[in-house]
Amino acid sequence: MARHDVVIIGAGNAGISLAARLLRVGAKDVAVVSPDRPHLFRPLLNYVAGGQATLSELTRSTAAVMPADCTWVRDRAVAVHTDEREVELAGGDRVGYQDLVLAPGLEEDLGAVPGLAEAMTAGWSLTAHVASQAPAVWDAVEQMTRGRVVFTLPPEPSPCGGTALKPLFLACDRWRRRGVLSDVDVHLITPFAGVLGLPFVDHRLEARLRELGVTVHQEARVASVDHQERAVTLDGPAATVLHDVDRAFVVPPYRGQDWLAPLARTGASGQVDVDPETMAHRSVPRVWSLGDAAALDTRPSGGALRQQVEVLADNIARHRLDQPLRRYNGYTIIPITIDRHRLLLAEFDRTGAQAPTTGLVDLSVPRRALWLFDRYVEPVLYFRALLRGLLIP
Ligand SMILES: Cc1cc2nc3c(=O)[nH]c(=O)nc-3n(C[C@H](O)[C@H](O)[C@H](O)COP(=O)(O)OP(=O)(O)OC[C@H]3O[C@@H](n4cnc5c(N)ncnc54)[C@H](O)[C@@H]3O)c2cc1C
Repeated sequence: MARHDVVIIGAGNAGISLAARLLRVGAKDVAVVSPDRPHLFRPLLNYVAGGQATLSELTRSTAAVMPADCTWVRDRAVAVHTDEREVELAGGDRVGYQDLVLAPGLEEDLGAVPGLAEAMTAGWSLTAHVASQAPAVWDAVEQMTRGRVVFTLPPEPSPCGGTALKPLFLACDRWRRRGVLSDVDVHLITPFAGVLGLPFVDHRLEARLRELGVTVHQEARVASVDHQERAVTLDGPAATVLHDVDRAFVVPPYRGQDWLAPLARTGASGQVDVDPETMAHRSVPRVWSLGDAAALDTRPSGGALRQQVEVLADNIARHRLDQPLRRYNGYTIIPITIDRHRLLLAEFDRTGAQAPTTGLVDLSVPRRALWLFDRYVEPVLYFRALLRGLLIP
C-alpha cells in the first residue's frame, strides 16, 4: 500500500489548486485521488447556457491540470479509515496519509425533486449546472418565441447557485432583442427572501427583474415537476402550482457524498464537519476539507477557494509546527450578468455582509468591464495561475 505525506481527494478547483499551492510552498509528497474525468472550469457553463461560450473552452483533461510533481491516484475514494489513516479506493486498494484533505465537491440530488430526473431525460427541464445540458439551454432559448418558462435558484449548499441568474438574464436579453420578451412569461423561484437574500445587491436585481417583467416567487423551492402535465409545484409560503410551463430550467438540490457521512456535520446536507475558519475536522485529527464539500457556513464558490487554499496550505504546515492556525473569514462571491454585456459582483462574508475586495470602485454596480473580466480574463487566470498554486487577491 502506498503512503503519502498529504493526500487530497478530488481534482476539481479545490483539489488541484491546493496540491499546486502545497508543492509551491515546499511540500514534497502530495497525492491527488481522482478518477480520470474531464476537468471543467464550471463558471463558463453559464455562458454556454447564455450563448457566449462553448464547452470545449472550459474543458481540459485531468492530466493537463495535474501539477507535475504530484502523484495522481486514478481512482475514486469510497471510505476513510481514520484510525489507520487510510483512504479506501473503489478498486479495492488503500492509500495512507499523514494529512488528508477532502475536496470531492457536492453531488446533484435529483431524487429530492420528484419528476426532475425524468423531466431532464425528456429535455423539458434543463440546467447549466449539469454540464452536458448547458448547450441545450441556449438552444431552447433560441427556439422560444412565446410561452411560459421557469428558472430556479437552488437551496444551499450549492456550487455558486446564485449564478443560475446568469442564464435567466442572458435569455431575457436575447428575447428582448428579438422582440418576443413580452410574449414569454418568465418566473423565477428563489429559496431566499428578495432574490439572493443579500440586500446590498437584491435591490438592483429586483429592479432589473421588474423591468424585464419576471415574476419572482420568494422563499420557495421546487417540490416536484411533471413534464407530461407541464407543471412545476412549489413549496413555500403559498404552495403554488405553475401550469402550462413550456420549459423548466431547474437547478437540482445538492448534497455531500454518502461515503463521507461518518465525517459529515449533522444537518449540513452531508458536508464535511470542519471548523469553518481553520478548515480542520472538528473531531478527527489530521483531516481537513475545503471547497464545495466542506461545511464552511458560507455559500460555496470558486472565488471563495482563493482564500481557502492559501489558508489551508498554511494551516497544514502550522499544525505540524504546533503554531496557531490561520482563519478563513467566509469570503465568497456570486457574479451575475444582468444583460449580455454587463455584470455585477456580489462579494460577501459568512454573515451575508458585503465584503468588497477593492474600495476603489463599487463592484456590485453592473459594469461592462466586469463582464469582460468574468467572461474572458477569469478563465485564463484560472488555468494559468490558480490551478498552478499562484495567489491572486
Ligand atoms: C454552472 C456553475 C457555475 C458556476 N459559476 C461560478 C462563478 O461564476 N464563480 C465562482 O466563483 N464559482 C462558480 N461556480 C462554483 C465553482 O465551480 C465551484 O465552487 C468549484 O468548482 C468547487 O470546486 P471543488 O473542487 O470544491 O468541487 P468540484 O469542482 O465539484 O470538484 C470535485 C472533484 O472531485 C472529484 N471527485 C468527486 N468524488 C470523488 C471521489 N469519491 N473520489 C475522488 N475524487 C472525487 C470530481 O471528479 C471533481 O474532480 C459555478 C459552478 C457551476 C456548477
